[in-house]
Amino acid sequence: MIYDVIIIGKGPAGISAALYTVRANLNTLVIGMDDSALKRASRIENYYGFSKAVTGDFLLKEGEKQAEGLGAEIVVAEVIALEKGDFFEVITPQRAYSSKALLIATGQPQKKARIENLDAFEGKGVSYCTTCDGFFYKGLKVGVLGYKDYAVHEAAELEAFTRDITIYTNGMELQLTEKFAEEAYRFKVNTRPVQKLEGSEYVEKIYFKDGSFEDIDGVFVAYESAGSGDFARKLGIIIEGSSIVVDKQQKTNVEGVFAAGDCTGGFKQIATAVGQGALAGRSIIEYVRSLP
Ligand SMILES: Cc1cc2nc3c(=O)[nH]c(=O)nc-3n(C[C@H](O)[C@H](O)[C@H](O)COP(=O)(O)OP(=O)(O)OC[C@H]3O[C@@H](n4cnc5c(N)ncnc54)[C@H](O)[C@@H]3O)c2cc1C
Repeated sequence: MIYDVIIIGKGPAGISAALYTVRANLNTLVIGMDDSALKRASRIENYYGFSKAVTGDFLLKEGEKQAEGLGAEIVVAEVIALEKGDFFEVITPQRAYSSKALLIATGQPQKKARIENLDAFEGKGVSYCTTCDGFFYKGLKVGVLGYKDYAVHEAAELEAFTRDITIYTNGMELQLTEKFAEEAYRFKVNTRPVQKLEGSEYVEKIYFKDGSFEDIDGVFVAYESAGSGDFARKLGIIIEGSSIVVDKQQKTNVEGVFAAGDCTGGFKQIATAVGQGALAGRSIIEYVRSLP
């Protein structure tokens, strides 16, 4: 089945967009995890229409109920990869979904792992995109920094280029769903906490907090869950700093891909996310209706 639109993120931006697309009769799927920034807000007093303070959790639950009541399909899952062919492919550990349009509403970008020189070597052995850079590491020794399904997915992507792949969990236990636990055995796994990366011009060594080190040619970062920056890199979407660049209609530079809410930077508030979600919804309706 091909959805008209898949919305990644079920915070205020994603749900607000869904209210518009579903009421315009677009086949709408929302995929998100239960970790919206709003979940941490215990007292909201500045959102229109509530004379008494409400919790973020209350707003989230009501929003989801409203969207589902109107006919949106909501799936709780982590998106670990996006691909573009004839349609957009949105991949979760459980299954893949296809759509004509895509809205990225994934909230604030994930925090980076605190590892010395990770930023300094970006583009010099440190990459956030296997699709973009895997090719440069043909036959070399590469590491994937991460401990969840996303990391194993990225390691599997790198197998097209090299067999020497280690997953560095940075002191975390692997947290994998069954499908990825079955795939992880193909890779070396190193669970020691990482201290720093070293090298002259390019990364050459990865040091651990216990003082040991390993030689390495490249490190792919797939820490925690994939975020807006990771999706942007895969699809060629322009980002500025860590925010997705959109125009006034919430369009990105990639046709059919829209973004809304905290992932676009700016004034990170519920009202902004809801407003951008509404604009994105309207733009998506126009876009899908314009397709042959
Ligand atoms: C403690 C706190 C208090 C706040 N108080 C206020 C306040 O009083 N008033 C106010 O206006 N704003 C407040 N905010 C800000 C507000 O919560 C955010 O601006 C708003 O939630 C942004 O909405 P969003 O939809 O862009 O992102 P979010 O609400 O963060 O939602 C992001 C969604 O994307 C999903 N997602 C991310 N990555 C993936 C992935 N790989 N796969 C699947 N799903 C994914 C998440 O699971 C989540 O569902 C507060 C924020 C915090 C943290």
